[in-house]
Formats: sequence, structure tokens, C-alpha cells
Amino acid sequence: MEFQSPDQSLTLTRADFDEATFRRVVAQKGLNLRWTQSAECPCQPKSEDNGFDLNNIDDIDSGTGNTVACPVCKGKGLIYHSAQEVKGIVTNAEGEYLNARYGGYREGLVNITLNPEHLPVFGDRFELTQSVMLYRETITMVDGQNLYPLRFPIASRNLNLKNGPETHDLIYMHVTDPVTGLALPNGEHTTDWRGPLAGYEITADGKFQRNNINRLEDGMRVSLTYFIHPTYTVVSYPNSIRDTLVRKKAASDSLVPLLVRVQAKLEFLEQEA
Ligand SMILES: [Zn+2]
Repeated sequence: MEFQSPDQSLTLTRADFDEATFRRVVAQKGLNLRWTQSAECPCQPKSEDNGFDLNNIDDIDSGTGNTVACPVCKGKGLIYHSAQEVKGIVTNAEGEYLNARYGGYREGLVNITLNPEHLPVFGDRFELTQSVMLYRETITMVDGQNLYPLRFPIASRNLNLKNGPETHDLIYMHVTDPVTGLALPNGEHTTDWRGPLAGYEITADGKFQRNNINRLEDGMRVSLTYFIHPTYTVVSYPNSIRDTLVRKKAASDSLVPLLVRVQAKLEFLEQEA
């Protein structure tokens, strides 16, 4: 059975969404985001390439899933591509308290509203390039290695303080005894070991550079607290379709895509690609 609705006049009392107004809001209030799109990695190594085969099962040519040996995705199964700067409105940050391995933490979920041409898919990443948050990490000095990429690149933050504007990136560093692994009582060297040959420097691309192996000795563990640009991964898209019919200054309706909204989760425990 069909259920036909009655005819409806489309000319009297009409309220259309104004696409230009939505776009203006994004341009005025949107934060700068680095949007990196994702695609599936086509890698599917054959089971025999992994050095095993299942008894009496013809699976020689079937895939075994993404693998860490893949030179492109390194086992993640995703290819990141087409990084570009876009504007997006970030709202409704919310969190849920979880029990993680190293104690409780609150995972962050935000809503990101974008112009319709910036349509993300599951797995895309958004880096808030103007915002910072703090991150903590402990690394170990390794014989022969002086450049240490951290889990996230170190970001800097400009602050207006009592004595004027200041820029900060690494706000705390503490070292251990290289032999016992215990933290040294006077092991805080955030500022006095910083500089050429003084101990360490921060590179322009946010890496930790050791430059004095007599201070930062091999085997030392180094606790670092530093600013990062938060990065979010798209986990759902509740409003990826917001098409509407508009008849402004026209005789007939036309389909206009409005802003899209996705939900993205803070990559807090995720390793940088
Ligand atoms: Zn792959």
C-alpha cells in the first residue's frame, strides 16, 4: 500500500536556510585545523609469506590482514593523505572517565563543524594547530642516539605574563641516575641544561635533541612535560549529510549542502604516525 501525502503549496510562507550565513560563521569563529584524510591500505600479505600455513586449508592466496611489515601503513591499515588547512568550529567537548592501565583518564570527544566540501570519513585526523594542551612522557637516553622524536611534536605557547610576553614549550624535565634508574633528588634541569652543548635543545620540528652526553648520559630516563597540538580522530559522523532545499530568488527548488558535523576523539594514547 502506498501512502500519498496531500499536495502542499511551496510558495507561501517559506523559510530557507541561508548557506552564506553558515559559511560566514565558520569563517569568523572556526579554529584553524590541519585536516588529514585517510584511506584503506590495500596491503594483504599472503599467509605463506608469514612463514606458516594452515593444515589442509587452501589459504595460500588469501590475505592475513594488515601487517607491521607494510612499508606504507606499518600495520595500521590506514593511509593518511591530502593534509590541508581548513576552518572548523569545535564544540561540545565531552569526556567519559575510563580506567586505563596507568590509572584513570578522561577521554576527549569533540564535535567539529565544517564547510560541506570538507567531508571527513572515519579515521581522518584533525590537528588543532592554534590550540595546545600538556602531555607527559618519559624517554630513555640510548647509546649513539641524540635525536628523539617524541610521541607528539613539541608545540610552543605564547603567554602574556607579569613580565611581558613569554613563549614556552617544554615546562619540566627531570632525570634519573643512569645506573639505578631512580630519580635524582636534584634532577630537575628544565632550564639550566637547555642550550647549545648545555644538555638538550628543542628542534624546529618539535623533537628532543640531546647535545651533551656527559650530562644526559646513556641509560638515563628523562621525564618530559611539554605542550602539544591536540589531534583528534573522526569516530562518527552524525551530520555528514545536511542537504536542504532552497528556493531563494529562484522559481524552483535547488539542493544545497549545508555544514557537516563529525565527532572526533582525542588521540591521547595513540602513537604519532
Ligand atoms: Zn598497509
